[in-house]
Amino acid sequence: MNEMSVHPSDCKFLEGGGEIGSLIRSIDWTKTTLGAPVNWPAALKQTVSMMFTTAFPVLICWGKEYTQLYNDSFRPILGKNKHPQAMGLSARETFAEIWDTIGPMFTGVMDGNTIGFPNFMVPLDRNGYLEDCYFDFSYSPIKDENGEIKGILVICSEVTDKVIAIKRLKASEENIRNMVRQAPVGMCIVQGDPLFVVEVNDNFIELTGKNRVEIKSKPYWEVFSEAAEFYRPITDQVFSTGQTFHADEHEIMLIRNGKKEIVHLDFVYEPMKDENGKSYAVMIVAIDVTDKVVARKEIEKADQQFRLAVATAKLGTWDANLETGLLDLSDRARIIHGLEADQQLSFSESLEMVVPEDRKIIEEAVNEAIVNQTSFEKEYQIVPKNHSEKRWLRSTGKISFNEFGKPSTITGTIMDITERKLDELRKNDFIGMVSHELKTPLTSLSAYIQVLLGRSKDQDAFMTGALKKANKQIRKMETMINGFLNVSRLESGKVDLKRQTFDMCELLKEIEEETNTTIASHTIIFNPVISATVHADRDKIGNVITNLISNAVKYSANSKTIRVSCVALKECVQVCVKDEGIGIPQEEIDNLFYRFYRVENNSNVSGFGIGLYLSAEIVKRHNGKIWAESELGKGSTFCFTIPV
Ligand code: ADP
Repeated sequence: MNEMSVHPSDCKFLEGGGEIGSLIRSIDWTKTTLGAPVNWPAALKQTVSMMFTTAFPVLICWGKEYTQLYNDSFRPILGKNKHPQAMGLSARETFAEIWDTIGPMFTGVMDGNTIGFPNFMVPLDRNGYLEDCYFDFSYSPIKDENGEIKGILVICSEVTDKVIAIKRLKASEENIRNMVRQAPVGMCIVQGDPLFVVEVNDNFIELTGKNRVEIKSKPYWEVFSEAAEFYRPITDQVFSTGQTFHADEHEIMLIRNGKKEIVHLDFVYEPMKDENGKSYAVMIVAIDVTDKVVARKEIEKADQQFRLAVATAKLGTWDANLETGLLDLSDRARIIHGLEADQQLSFSESLEMVVPEDRKIIEEAVNEAIVNQTSFEKEYQIVPKNHSEKRWLRSTGKISFNEFGKPSTITGTIMDITERKLDELRKNDFIGMVSHELKTPLTSLSAYIQVLLGRSKDQDAFMTGALKKANKQIRKMETMINGFLNVSRLESGKVDLKRQTFDMCELLKEIEEETNTTIASHTIIFNPVISATVHADRDKIGNVITNLISNAVKYSANSKTIRVSCVALKECVQVCVKDEGIGIPQEEIDNLFYRFYRVENNSNVSGFGIGLYLSAEIVKRHNGKIWAESELGKGSTFCFTIPV
């Protein structure tokens, strides 16, 4: 076979036809039932030339044998296995595997019927295996000039890819529906006009507070009439533009379980598209984020309130990272520290700014808070970075720990209390001055009374009694004035400890003798003490013990026993005064040592709330500790220690 088998001049109708044209021309048609092309019937010639000029896949099956001719476009349908053998061969042979199906159709066409189907499936073996192939096709008869049917014209186009795509789409839609049913968020698919729910999951139903029957049986916007005004246009838009719509934290009023509720939803309207890219449904994904939004709003509100409070109270805030040593200061905290605009300060540098006499207090407070996992509050002085006047600050701090339990940050507030402190100092000076001035007239008053007492003896019983009472009142007044004087001295830093080495046992013996003569109302039992040497201010420690004993007497009117004990421990000497009096409410115990603090229920006992404050200050200056244990109605024990 070669191109010259058909003489071109004989067969003008065979010209063209691309590669396939050459193939046709190379075949020795005399060896087929069609014979030499020159002798082909006019109808066949015409159909062949038409076939070459059409872009559609065309197959001609001529005569009883259905001898085949086809064009270039038909070639892919034949795969690797059937082309080029099919050219000039009987269709019965080429399509043996589907002849059962198409054979009867061919017979029908030869009888004068035209047939055609869209998406028609035939299993073709064209590439060495059977594959389901889909065609849109028509079979029509080819008639000769006498109107007799001589062959079949097959015009078809293969639609296998399209059909498979549609199948996949359908399968994926089923997948989508499955996904909707199982999704952990609210999901629903709406479709149709009017929109109806075609698939919805329990989460969506729960989130919207409707019931399944209602959701499935009524048009969507009837079920959600309360949301239609706003959301219907959005859904319409998603359908018409095919573009996804996202919304974050949308506030929406829903009638849930019959009740109006404001909820916040994150949701997505996702168009579902057919093979032509047209939106045929919308998938609605909704997540109820109301709790999250409400919580966040509360935090924002609290944060705002905090900022406002901080700003109004002129509070600075600070945040120290213990791992990096960096210190983050608010604007006010920066001003308080006298920092330049871009000047940085590390945590340790900030501690170095504290005046030497206060530095230990603040370092200890931080360490104690770390060990006890608590917060601290301290007053101290700093020298600001810009070398302005010293400032008094009050700082609070709270330690946070990382996941390994190590201290990671300290956050707190800071306040400039210089003005208040200076006021206090001025007040102290004033109290000190007044107390001092009062002492002189009081001393002479006391002296006169002593003289009068001496003279009135055995003369006038009433006068003697009155003078004794006056003397007692003067003693009380002296104690009070001395108390004020001591407070003022202490606060202006004028109290110096005069340390000496002495035996606490001796001191207690002296106090015992003294109380025996001054206190008749109570029995004071001094537990035996062997020897306990300390290095401390003897007078001041004596004052502390006397003060504790006189409190024990004052606050135990109805019981008579008071015990004083002293033990020498390994690193300190501990003195305790125990009474069986009114006791102290648990929540008040820590406050007792503050200046001017008094427990409310003891208003019938006179006092100013300075005795324990002074005692505590004296003990602290000795680096000792003071504390109280008490049970309301049963009694109290006050103890202090002095390191040896
Ligand atoms: P004052 O006795 O002058 O009020 P203190 O500073 O000595 O001041 O005591 C402060 C407060 O502690 C007292 O007002 C009282 O409420 C309470 N307090 C002190 N000692 C005792 C005690 N032994 N028993 C009960 N309450 C006491």
